[in-house]
Amino acid sequence: MPGARGKALSFADLQQAVIDVGRCGKCGGCVSFCSAGGLGALAMSEDGLPLLVEPRRCLHCGLCYLICPFTHELDEETHARFGWQAPFGACRHVASARATSGAIRSVATDGGVVTALLVTLLETGSIEAAIVSPRRDGLRRAPRIATTAEEIIAAAGCQLAPTEHLEQLGQQYTTYSPTIAAVKGLAGERLRKVALVGVPCQVRTVRKMQALGIIPSEVITHVIGLFCCESLVLDEQGLEYLRRLGVPLPQVRKLNIKECLLATLQDGSEVRLPLEALDPIARRACLSCPDFSSELADLSVGGLGSPPGFTTVIVRNDRGWQSYSEALRRGQIEELAHTSPQAAREHRAQLLQKVEAFCRWKQERAARHQRQPA
Ligand SMILES: Cc1cc2nc3c(=O)[nH]c(=O)nc-3n(C[C@H](O)[C@H](O)[C@H](O)COP(=O)(O)OP(=O)(O)OC[C@H]3O[C@@H](n4cnc5c(N)ncnc54)[C@H](O)[C@@H]3O)c2cc1C
Ligand code: SF4
Ligand code: SF4
Repeated sequence: MPGARGKALSFADLQQAVIDVGRCGKCGGCVSFCSAGGLGALAMSEDGLPLLVEPRRCLHCGLCYLICPFTHELDEETHARFGWQAPFGACRHVASARATSGAIRSVATDGGVVTALLVTLLETGSIEAAIVSPRRDGLRRAPRIATTAEEIIAAAGCQLAPTEHLEQLGQQYTTYSPTIAAVKGLAGERLRKVALVGVPCQVRTVRKMQALGIIPSEVITHVIGLFCCESLVLDEQGLEYLRRLGVPLPQVRKLNIKECLLATLQDGSEVRLPLEALDPIARRACLSCPDFSSELADLSVGGLGSPPGFTTVIVRNDRGWQSYSEALRRGQIEELAHTSPQAAREHRAQLLQKVEAFCRWKQERAARHQRQPA
């Protein structure tokens, strides 16, 4: 398949532009959706990087290059298709909101909006399933196709760790969940309406697949994108690093990333670390990733800017608005109450300012890291 400059693209281009320069996020998208997948042209290596194992079987179609979230050949097309506007994508509505269900809020990361939205979509028949990331073992999260409200609620939260496991952890743990692998799994299902919850790089891959018409991306009808500064690698070294920075691991109840890394301790007190301090334990690819707010999602969500117990929601398009307004109408989510319309307007302006500042910060960090030699 020719790239923007008319040159035929292949895995060699992906190798050069992304993998060799340390920008591969190990999502597996290129291997999972390789046109020569049945021929075994590509495989994931033990360290999670894609490899061209059978060069003669590569069809030189360029699909691997195009769907990679770290290439930009399809930017113009995806931006036009999903109504992208500067500086951080489309924005139809912004608010701080939370689930009305105390049961959801008690297991959620912030206000439980993601979980409440998914449950509403399922109950109203708008979706048949959702790709979520429940905790798999100890600290790890793994993607799963949830088809019941119970499964969706069981996947709520993205706490990086309950304490007792933090200290015992010997193997590599990353806060990244390989959601794109679950998209591949949809091909064997009879599902036609599926929601996906993912970090911005995963949202990008899905949007690129949709732009290229790659099966089964057409069944992903609702995309909820999480805000994301970075995914952390919490292997032994990562944990030791946090310990040295003063995070008392045995007392940590919950880790969350908002304006900073927030470690909530068993007694309710908090330890905060500035995001810059996390660079040494961020996945290397994340440092060159420019998308903070899941710019191509239908709805984007994070904790940034909202009071504790609330989720910041950016509704980006009609699809997002239908889902959000239906959950509001049915009383499954509620917005933060304000003392006056003026106070509500000021709060919305503050949310947008904060998100914009983080988007710029992440874009500048990415530009800095992209200039550095591999
Ligand atoms: C790796 C990561 C980094 C983040 N960084 C930031 C940040 O810098 N700033 C910020 O404001 N917010 C960040 N968030 C988002 C924030 O932590 C909350 O997920 C968001 O506010 C939604 O809260 P909620 O209570 O509405 O979601 P919930 O109702 O708790 O639902 C969360 C949903 O996310 C899914 N999920 C959990 N972990 C993952 C994962 N690793 N990959 C894909 N899906 C997952 C769960 O299965 C669940 O469906 C990040 C999230 C993740 C996973
Ligand atoms: S980021 Fe994903 S699609 Fe891109 S090279 Fe790495 S594994 Fe392949
Ligand atoms: S910063 Fe977040 S969105 Fe970007 S590559 Fe890392 S995990 Fe993906």
